[in-house]
Parts: sequence; structure tokens; C-alpha cells
Amino acid sequence: MRSIYDLTFNDLVEWTEMVGYKSYQAKQIYQWLYRHRVNDFDEMTDIAKDKREFLKSSFSMKNLTLVQKQVSKDKTIKYLLAFEDGSLNECVLMTYDYGKTICVSSQVGCNMGCSFCASGLLKKQRDLSAAEMVQQVLFVQKELDKEDERVSHVVIMGSGEPFDNYDNVMAFMRIINHDLGLAIGARHITVSTCGIVPFIYRFADEEVQYNLAISLHAPNDELRSSLMPINKAYPLNELMKAIKYYASKNNRRITFEYILLKGINDKSEHIKQLAQLIKGLNAYVNIIPYNQVDEHGFKKVDYHSAMIFYDGLMKAHVKCTLRQEHGSDIDAACGQLRAKHERNR
Ligand code: SAH
Repeated sequence: MRSIYDLTFNDLVEWTEMVGYKSYQAKQIYQWLYRHRVNDFDEMTDIAKDKREFLKSSFSMKNLTLVQKQVSKDKTIKYLLAFEDGSLNECVLMTYDYGKTICVSSQVGCNMGCSFCASGLLKKQRDLSAAEMVQQVLFVQKELDKEDERVSHVVIMGSGEPFDNYDNVMAFMRIINHDLGLAIGARHITVSTCGIVPFIYRFADEEVQYNLAISLHAPNDELRSSLMPINKAYPLNELMKAIKYYASKNNRRITFEYILLKGINDKSEHIKQLAQLIKGLNAYVNIIPYNQVDEHGFKKVDYHSAMIFYDGLMKAHVKCTLRQEHGSDIDAACGQLRAKHERNR
């Protein structure tokens, strides 16, 4: 049965019209789901009983179940959640001074095969539906409701490649962004891709205000192809062309993610190449400390060396930030907790 959380507001309006409900009822239902955050159709008290019964027979309203919760010293919380079919998924809540950010997964496993990433340790089993992504946000929001807090930012940077599940991810963003619902501002929602070029064009053409982040991690083709197989299909010149197209259609600043891997992509020549590559773009580089994944053998760069890299980029007139580490004491790398759990199963 289709989950009610799969429906965008427009889908719900269409459905209510189709079954002959008054048009304002879509609004009521949507608010019950996302403002009042009820767990059962019977809690929708201003919907007539026969209509609630009909809703029940048309849609499921199941939630995710909590398998494990890890809380780190810096208050980062990692949730291991199970979907209806028993698949496991991780999502992470991070607290910043500007608000609370949730990192959402978009697939079970991942097929992109990036050599440093824990998510790819388990091949893609399936895409997540829009509902399953919405449910991650709702699960965490319901936890936060107990403390009168709210999820203010969403990043689609958990396990999976969002542009390999494009339609569901777009529906998900529309659902959490809608004014009558969670109302998470488009500018507070970020989708991160390893660089599936045709979908960067498609995303650009949507002319939406969501943020785009690109997992770059290497400033030349040889190195990038050795780390990220996607670069063989869409090398840097094609990727940068797509990004320039996106930039021409959207006035949003682009983020380039760059994990520092010791002895691999952290040399001064890489700073020069990186500066050259993104010259002229309204962009910044987010330097990410590597979360060491046992299976991969890459080493993280110490803080001092990361600062040298950061300074080098600043001197080359590249805007950059050094990402604050979160949850390094709790299996923080995407897919790490799930991979561990699957091994133990
Ligand atoms: N597939 C998408 C989104 C998921 S990965 C993408 O590639 O962007 C989200 C980010 O985490 C990516 O930049 C990814 O490269 C990075 N990442 C993966 N494994 C990591 C690790 N062990 N330590 C730090 N960042 C990691």
C-alpha cells in the first residue's frame, strides 16, 4: 500500500479531488501529517470518520522503527532506523549554532563505488521512496518535539547517490519544503551528488532554490578517476560544464566537497589545480576531515596539515571552510554504522 508520506501537497490535492472530497481537506490532512505530526489517521479529528476509514484503506501511515541510537560527546545523534521491509538506514542529527541539521540517506547501499566511502561497502539494494526520506525527517522531528526544537536544515548526504534516485529525491524536497508542512526553507536544503552530469542539467532546469553540493575530492581526472568511478563516465571537463550551466540558471552558491586524504589529494599542486578548476564560479570548497573507514586504508590528515591546505586555498583566492568534525566517536562516516550492523547480523 502506498504511504501517505509519498504524496506531495499537489498529489494530495489531486487525490482529494479525484475521490470527491472538498478541496480544503487536502490542506487539513497535510497539516495533520506535518504540523501536528500525528501517528494515526484517527487522530485527524476534523476529518469525518468515514473519510478517515477511506484514507486508511487507501494509504499506509507506518513509521520507521528505531534499531539503535548513538549520541556523541558533541551531541551529534546517529539513528539506525529500519524500514518496513527490514532494510536498515542511517540518519544523523547535528547541532550547530544556527540550528539543527539532519543528514538523510537516499538509497539502501550505493553503487557509485567511491573508494573511500563506507556506504559503498554494501552495494545498492534499492532506492528509497520519497516517503522513506520524509519519514527520516519526521522521525527525528518527533524526537525533537519532546524538547520543543526543530529540524532547520536538511542535507541529502547520507548513504546513496541522490541523483541516482532523482524523482523521489525531488518529491521528498518538495514535501519537506511545503509551507503547510515542515516548511524547511529551500535554501536550507542541500542535495549532494558525486557528479551524475545529466541530472545536474535537469536540476539546473528546475530553477529551484535548493543548494547543490558536488563531491569533488580531486582536482584532476587521473586522481579523481582513481577515487571515484563516476569520473570515468563524466570527467571533470563535462562536470564543470554542467556546473557552469547550473550557475548560469541559478544564482545559488555551489559547494564543492573535498575530503582530505593523507598523501593522496592534499599536496600543494592540488591546491593550484583546484583553484584553477573552479576559478570564476560563485562557489566555495568545504574541506572535510576524513572519517577513517577500517576497510579502506586511507588515512586522515591531521588538523595542522588541514589548516595548511586551507590557508593555501585562501591564498589562491578560493573561498573555503574546514568542516567541523561531528560525531567522530560514534561511527560517523555515512554507512559505517549500518555496515557494522549488517556484518553482525
Ligand atoms: N552520493 C552523494 C551523497 C552521499 S555522500 C555524494 O557523493 O555527494 C556525502 C558526502 O560524504 C560526500 O561528499 C562523500 O564523498 C562524503 N564521504 C563519504 N565517505 C566519507 C568518509 N569516510 N569521510 C568523510 N566524508 C565522506
